[in-house]
Amino acid sequence: MIAKTWFQLYHTKGIVKANFSVTNICNYRCNHCNIWRKYLENPELLRRELSFKEFLKISEQTTSLRWISITGGEPTLKKGLDKFLIALPDSIKLVSLNTNGSLPNKITDIIKIAAETMPKRLFYVSVSLDGPPEVHDKLRGIPGAFENSISTFLQLKQLTDEFKNVHVNFEYTITPWNLGQFEALLRYFNKTKFPASAADFVISLYETAAYYHHDDSRGSKPTLKILKEAQRIVSCFPRISLNPSTLFCRVFLALSSEYYTKRKRHPCFAGEKSVWVNPYGEVQMCIYKSQPLGNIKDYDYDLNRLVSSQKNEILELRNSCKGCWTPCESYTTLMFRPLFLIEGVVKSW
Ligand code: SF4
Ligand code: SF4
Repeated sequence: MIAKTWFQLYHTKGIVKANFSVTNICNYRCNHCNIWRKYLENPELLRRELSFKEFLKISEQTTSLRWISITGGEPTLKKGLDKFLIALPDSIKLVSLNTNGSLPNKITDIIKIAAETMPKRLFYVSVSLDGPPEVHDKLRGIPGAFENSISTFLQLKQLTDEFKNVHVNFEYTITPWNLGQFEALLRYFNKTKFPASAADFVISLYETAAYYHHDDSRGSKPTLKILKEAQRIVSCFPRISLNPSTLFCRVFLALSSEYYTKRKRHPCFAGEKSVWVNPYGEVQMCIYKSQPLGNIKDYDYDLNRLVSSQKNEILELRNSCKGCWTPCESYTTLMFRPLFLIEGVVKSW
């Protein structure tokens, strides 16, 4: 099923992947992200968010769309996620979703119904987990956050036995505040006999893109310490895995250092195969190019229409881009450049 979906994505022309940042509502208080501050500072802004009905309209009007990646804020806090997932057109083959894991029962119910209704669609859920209990709770600013994530993972893991189209992993972000804690977390799992290992994780690197509502909107690169940590963590992952998340994560980590230290520019499909849609309908080329290409409402909710009308701007942005290596876009690159993926597998060995 995974190979078939990959094939379908690979052979589709136009915008294939949309990153939908569906809301800026968030119930956590993370150290490394300021999204939760947005509506405390400007509550009026909430009224401008697109509804899930409008996100559905984008999914229907953009007929080339095959992969929807849902993020926020915390997507489960926005009304209508359940209805949105089951109403998506058949052309959507893959839905990936990031959650902070705060609502175990809610996300499990939503994914269960969606997987039951659409057995031919793949669902990948990533649950945040950034260290052992005290580290994760401190980083997320909420007591009990660790237990929530663990419970969410376990409930979703149970679903994977029943539904072959459901996949779940933890997402660990390496930040300046949890260096050395990945191995500590694995030791904790070992000690408590928790049924997870490195192969159940994908890894992200802390950066300061404007999207995270940081003052520094220049999209600074990860520090050397974070990159060194990434290199150490690669060795925790199995060299051979049939799980695409594990495979891609290993390659992502190995190539991140190459990119940031040698400034070797990797291929990028932002604006060609993928775009970023913020909660207000503004479409960006990627998470870092915060200047909107336009608002989707002005283009009849069709991403291809919007992108075609902004060809010159996209070209300019691409030519002036110094590159990046964010998971949001790098996984798309690995998917659309199989030879580059093979090169990455060899380098990560
Ligand atoms: S990282 Fe996620 S959970 Fe934390 S504040 Fe940002 S949106 Fe919320
Ligand atoms: S390389 Fe990175 S910053 Fe540049 S366009 Fe691609 S995703 Fe955006």
